[in-house]
Amino acid sequence: MARPDISQLSNVTSSKLGDFNACERHFEYRYVYGSDRKGLSAAYGIIVHNLAELFYYKNFESPESFGKYSKHQWRLYRLSQEDMDSLTEDRIREVLFLKPDEKINLEGLKKTLGGMKQKYGETVFKSKGTRNEPYVWGAHTKAIGELMESFSKRHWDERQGLEEKRKSELKRRGLGKLKGKKRIEVIKSLDLYPKLEVPFSIGYEGFHITGKMDRIEKRDGSLAVFDYKTGAVCPEEGDFVLLRNTNHQSTIYTLALEDMCRELVLEPGGFHIYHMISGRAVPVPRSQQDKIRLKESMENMAASIKTLESERENSGKPFVYPQRVSHNCRRCEFEGFCREEEDALRSSGTFHELSYKLIRIPRGRKKRGEVPPGQLRLFD
Ligand code: SF4
Repeated sequence: MARPDISQLSNVTSSKLGDFNACERHFEYRYVYGSDRKGLSAAYGIIVHNLAELFYYKNFESPESFGKYSKHQWRLYRLSQEDMDSLTEDRIREVLFLKPDEKINLEGLKKTLGGMKQKYGETVFKSKGTRNEPYVWGAHTKAIGELMESFSKRHWDERQGLEEKRKSELKRRGLGKLKGKKRIEVIKSLDLYPKLEVPFSIGYEGFHITGKMDRIEKRDGSLAVFDYKTGAVCPEEGDFVLLRNTNHQSTIYTLALEDMCRELVLEPGGFHIYHMISGRAVPVPRSQQDKIRLKESMENMAASIKTLESERENSGKPFVYPQRVSHNCRRCEFEGFCREEEDALRSSGTFHELSYKLIRIPRGRKKRGEVPPGQLRLFD
């Protein structure tokens, strides 16, 4: 693989920072080599986000029809991950639940699936070929249908109201007949809320931070930003998982919101996570201390990349960023690849001091301060 220009890493995003802090090697595969491989849950999250945006731009008859459409999109996604050359009509009928007399335009469909594969990248499906495979796909299809149907029920009236406002604004501008992509482009530039998938680009402490906010709402002279979460459990307000020091995503979005509010002369209403299953929005307050931690984390990432890159230049041996073996490896899309690279590194005599070893805590009674039995613990 050709080594890309490392200077492109100077732009910080919350996922880059999160990936680097979790595992440098994962970061290298994802951002230095730009791999678009992803695990099934990541693909599920991306498709849910896309559907949640599409809901506000496409006309659906009812929440139920939107739920059906979402399921269909997920099934198409499944097909797009299969070998396109050996895709048969029978297989398509089976996955898309088509009736025996329903006609299929095989070439047209393959084109659509190719487009989807390009859009969503390649999924590493760990259950492939196992007895679990149909169950896993089926469970995701059911979940996406139910999730998007309940989401659309919750926001149905809001969407209809927003559409009316858009129509009258477009008419006022003499653009009432606009259709398709052009219409969406103009709609996105209108000052109407909620705004969806809003990109931001801010400067903070010498770093350039970019990202996309899932949803911005305007409430009583203030703006609030919402990040969609698709997990099964909704965290409670003040939960450790939200307030922990390493939750840089919330700090980044808070900074971006403050920047936006300065421009619009509004009060920042704060960053929230929006739990898509329950519809609950949980505020995540960020302090000055969190902003200092973000700055330290970005500085640490920049300095570590510099050190690793100079080690690479000078080592004269195969070089890969250090591993951080943890419970995350079980879900990591690079797992097999990473193991092979590690074996090659070690046989060439390269061993990262930074790499973590994995130990299993023997089963037994948990003592105060110990990691629970059966769980993994890291040490360097
Ligand atoms: S398998 Fe584990 S160590 Fe390797 S890249 Fe993935 S998370 Fe990092």
